[in-house]
Amino acid sequence: MLFDVSTAVTEQLHDELFIEKGISVSVLRLDRIHPVISGNKLFKLHYFLEEAIRSAHRTIVTFGGAYSNHLAATAYACGALGLKSIGIVRGEESATLSHTLLQCIKDGMQLKFISRTAYAAAATSPSLPGEHGECLVIPEGGYHPMGARGASLIMNLVDTSHTHICTALGTATTLAGLALHAKPHQQLIGIPVVKEMNNLDERIKELTGFTTMPAAVECWTGYHFGGYAKKNEALIHFINQCWQQYRVPLDFVYTAKMFYAVTDQVKKNHFPPGSRILCLHTGGLQGNGSLPPNTLAF
Ligand SMILES: *Cc1c(COP(=O)(O)O)cnc(C)c1O
Repeated sequence: MLFDVSTAVTEQLHDELFIEKGISVSVLRLDRIHPVISGNKLFKLHYFLEEAIRSAHRTIVTFGGAYSNHLAATAYACGALGLKSIGIVRGEESATLSHTLLQCIKDGMQLKFISRTAYAAAATSPSLPGEHGECLVIPEGGYHPMGARGASLIMNLVDTSHTHICTALGTATTLAGLALHAKPHQQLIGIPVVKEMNNLDERIKELTGFTTMPAAVECWTGYHFGGYAKKNEALIHFINQCWQQYRVPLDFVYTAKMFYAVTDQVKKNHFPPGSRILCLHTGGLQGNGSLPPNTLAF
């Protein structure tokens, strides 16, 4: 790895509920790697960064919204590795930049704002936009087979004794990466944080090169809390409860919804006794910076 990931430890969560159900629930703390380049983003970027380091131009272009964890991680990683980075931001430039974009600028990223329509066309196309010249283009969220290959490195940190591995789903690149390296006895569960995730099969096939959707991959819709970056009182209360009980800080966009789903399914007896569940803490804590002060207990 290009960055030290030794701080990404697995912690077992202690809860009467888990004892009662005869299961164990642990969390892989990818959020501990670094406050900005934390979680799954570092892994998804891995092979892109390696390629940029090897190339003569050493410039990365990528895409994101005003609160994008992916932009934040890319900016930081490029800054630390001596690469140039350009971030194409969805929407017009506003008078006050988000805390995420300010951090990107601090990390040396050059920002360009484009309209939502132009963005939609550009962000998901892996082709090289001419105006950026010879540089490495990373699609939004690292959605690319190379991003999935990078995400598969997360499995190097996962003990083979785990029977279920759960992760939040955005582009599904991380889930695809897990599918590349999972053991046959491991069930992979993705929890979409967006309202519409109806082409998951296509995504997984495109990202992995598999011709069929692996049977071990499961998707739990119904935990998006109204859609991407939407939240309610119950979710905020849940985040504070997890902090009080487990000392695990969650982000409201991704990991809180995943944890909420897992807890709910434990209560509903989805997991047979003896299950050893691993939840990926995919990071994203910088995103909590958009919440009003004192919303969270940490
Ligand atoms: C981006 C992100 C995800 C989603 O990852 P995908 O590979 O796009 O599915 C999950 N959790 C966090 C914290 C993220 O920032």
